[in-house]
Amino acid sequence: MPQIPPNLEQEILRLKREKNAVILAHFYQDSEIQDIADFVGDSLDLSRKAASTDADEIIFCGVKFMAEVAKILSPTKRVLVPDFNAGCSLEDSCQPQSFAEFRKKYPDAIVITYINCSAEIKALSDIIVTSTNAKKIIEQIPADREIIFAPDQHLGRYLEKITGRKMILWNGSCVVHEQFSEKELVKLIANHPSAKVIAHPECPQTLLSHAHHIGSTSSLLNFAEKNQGGEFIVLTELHIIHQMQKRNPTAKFFDCPSLDKAGCTLCNSCPYMQLNNLEKLYLVMKYGNESECGGELILDEALRIKAEVPLRKMLAMS
Ligand code: SF4
Repeated sequence: MPQIPPNLEQEILRLKREKNAVILAHFYQDSEIQDIADFVGDSLDLSRKAASTDADEIIFCGVKFMAEVAKILSPTKRVLVPDFNAGCSLEDSCQPQSFAEFRKKYPDAIVITYINCSAEIKALSDIIVTSTNAKKIIEQIPADREIIFAPDQHLGRYLEKITGRKMILWNGSCVVHEQFSEKELVKLIANHPSAKVIAHPECPQTLLSHAHHIGSTSSLLNFAEKNQGGEFIVLTELHIIHQMQKRNPTAKFFDCPSLDKAGCTLCNSCPYMQLNNLEKLYLVMKYGNESECGGELILDEALRIKAEVPLRKMLAMS
């Protein structure tokens, strides 16, 4: 069993210098990981920032599809993840074989896919989008062209609403955003009538109908920063509140409870993101593939090249 040093943060920073590494943390990571990272952000932003550095190694504290995006955009850098088990329910809900068969049913449709999917699904797609640029990209598709949108059905419905485009939706969803309780949200709003409800479009329409502002993680963060002070009810993964509180220190933030089918309160944090911690970050930096559950992310080069095409198309169109 590898030893964890008592001065863990200092050791991580020392290893980072020694290996010329850059540490990336998604907004949904624990605050202690966010605070030690070089960059904190959403998945695409992090991968682009890492690509622009001269680091030899990228340590991605997020989930697997995010690390894949970093590898796609930085093929010559080593990409390491603290825990290979950090997946994503949205990614799991769209498996390559079923998606390839689905695609075949609509041979003339253009396939627009949300970045929260595996490299294999990206390789089967025409254009990748994020929640920030999806509207702009969909609006560039000729009106007479059918669109398949995958994998998030809720984001798809939201985009249909704001673009006026009917799309063929894959029925995937995110376990975190789907389980917020509307009943609990209504109670929170009643108790905090002046609070602004800010929501990620991965939430179902019933929840979004209560929101004052809907947007990507970065957009929610900017909204909280622009409206200094006040109260906010946050409908996305709760760890983003750490950054919101930093940028708006006098505000009060409330995370909306989630309920399971039996009515029990759930923690609305992403179970995959929470697999990462400082100890695993240290272990992967120190021991690489010999660490307990992390190591270097390897992507087949032919797959990487195929997945890069729709990602680059997105960058050109956004
Ligand atoms: S919050 Fe949802 S979409 Fe994001 S990584 Fe977790 S399961 Fe996937």
